[in-house]
Amino acid sequence: MSDCIFCKIAAGDIPCNKIYEDADVVAFHDIRPIAPVHFLIIPKLHVASLADCGPEHEALLGRIMGLVPKLAAEQGMSAGFKTGINTGRGGGQEVFHLHVHVFGHKG
Ligand code: 5GP
Ligand code: ZN
Repeated sequence: MSDCIFCKIAAGDIPCNKIYEDADVVAFHDIRPIAPVHFLIIPKLHVASLADCGPEHEALLGRIMGLVPKLAAEQGMSAGFKTGINTGRGGGQEVFHLHVHVFGHKG
């Protein structure tokens, strides 16, 4: 998707404060954090939202969710963290490229 900001981040065309990358997934700090630690995990594949996911995306969703505790621990969120997926306009989604919010405090 040439006009998708998260596709551009995934491709390295727009800079981000990256904390993780592999062949399928990128994680980076949110540009407008709502907590002392706030990062996003996205698939490199353009999927507009959770509402657009089907059985073919289950493995990818599992990979993303499986990374949450590892990355949260690396960010020092030892007491726990919050996760969220805003879906659709009614769900408060602003960027229509699937992403998982992880936010909270260090310690
Ligand atoms: P949502 O679509 O779930 O409402 O949230 C999109 C999130 O992406 C927001 O928290 C916003 O601050 C973040 N965001 C939007 N554009 C950029 C960007 O260019 N870089 C980064 N790092 N975060 C962004
Ligand atoms: Zn995209």
